Amino acid sequence: MLSEKMLELGTNRSVIRDLFEFAKERKAEIGEDHVFDFSIGNPSVPAPQCVQEAIEEVVRDVDPVLLHGYTSAQGDAGLRQAIAGYVNGQHGTSLTADNFYITVGAAASLSITLKALAEEGDEFIAFAPFFPEYRVFVENTGSKLVVVNSDPHDFQIDQEALAAAVTRHTKAVILNSPNNPSGVVIHEEGIRQACATLEKKQKEYGHPIFLITDEPYRELVYDDVEVPYLMNYYDNTIVCYSYSKSLSLPGERIGYIAVSDRAVQWQQIYAAVCGAGRSLGYVCAPSLFQQVVKRCQGQTADVSVYKKNRDLLYQALTEYGYRCIRPDGAFYLFVESLEKDASAFSEKAKEYELLLVPADSFGTPGFVRISYCVSTEQIQNALPAFQALAQAYGK
Ligand code: PLP
Repeated sequence: MLSEKMLELGTNRSVIRDLFEFAKERKAEIGEDHVFDFSIGNPSVPAPQCVQEAIEEVVRDVDPVLLHGYTSAQGDAGLRQAIAGYVNGQHGTSLTADNFYITVGAAASLSITLKALAEEGDEFIAFAPFFPEYRVFVENTGSKLVVVNSDPHDFQIDQEALAAAVTRHTKAVILNSPNNPSGVVIHEEGIRQACATLEKKQKEYGHPIFLITDEPYRELVYDDVEVPYLMNYYDNTIVCYSYSKSLSLPGERIGYIAVSDRAVQWQQIYAAVCGAGRSLGYVCAPSLFQQVVKRCQGQTADVSVYKKNRDLLYQALTEYGYRCIRPDGAFYLFVESLEKDASAFSEKAKEYELLLVPADSFGTPGFVRISYCVSTEQIQNALPAFQALAQAYGK
């Protein structure tokens, strides 16, 4: 009668959504301030002032019939030109409006890109830990997700594991840096080595292997850490971007795909992206927010709040005896579970009103993810609970 697969996806919520819903119930029971909800990556920093100003300006000045009407399927040409200008200025690329497809956020950017590339029998590689929806998006194209573990010491790319995982069926490698859930930024040397491997494998197999870079956290980095722009390292690159985190606009659903003008037959790839957008119904992203982000190029939400949270949490938790990966970006802290089973540890943490996401679905068992995009006050109030939890495990 209906698709078993879709029924399953719609019935079994992700572990993150489960905890998020649990948090709502628990807050209603014992009060907002008594639940330390670290479950979801909803930015806690408000959108920057330019967003408010741009909304007011476009609502006041743009003809409402135009403002609320359909744009081109691939997005407003003026916005695409504005993004091209900004990206070129930042990264020395030579992109034009014709390299960009406007989407409803990174999830759509990824789904469209995968759909545009996937052929029967294809494999897509992701590095664990990875955003769990990758599996859903890849499998939805009928392709296989191949998981490559990161180096367990620093969660950088395990180069040998990558080289071993690429086969003649590999269509693309998905890279997410800064990473959700580890907060790790892949350093330039790691990028260079991975790109060299892919170049070599392309030659060996005689077909392109694409690099899909999922970058909703590009601007959320601390202490002058650089995030290499992949198009400058590897020709067959497709960027999946979103303003959800950089402008704190996750509910507005706006982002883009950029196809490198150095990719093999890039106009064909771009046409396939347009076709995939069409087939998935992801056309004409919200017009009002296309106009808003056009006016906010180069702006970012106040990252200093996340840095403060990172410093506070990382320092306290390592002092209490937790082993944490020190994040250079995004707003997640990846913490080794204090017992082997991270789900059991997450359940135990609930006794202290701490909501931590077990990382099994991120492909890395034995860890939990803490989303520290919360108020600094929530972190301060939660520290005694973290300490008590560590003590319960004899730390
Ligand atoms: N990719 C990663 C790594 C994410 O963390 C998220 C959201 O948290 C997404 C993609 C989806 O982003 P969006 O809300 O823009 O669709």
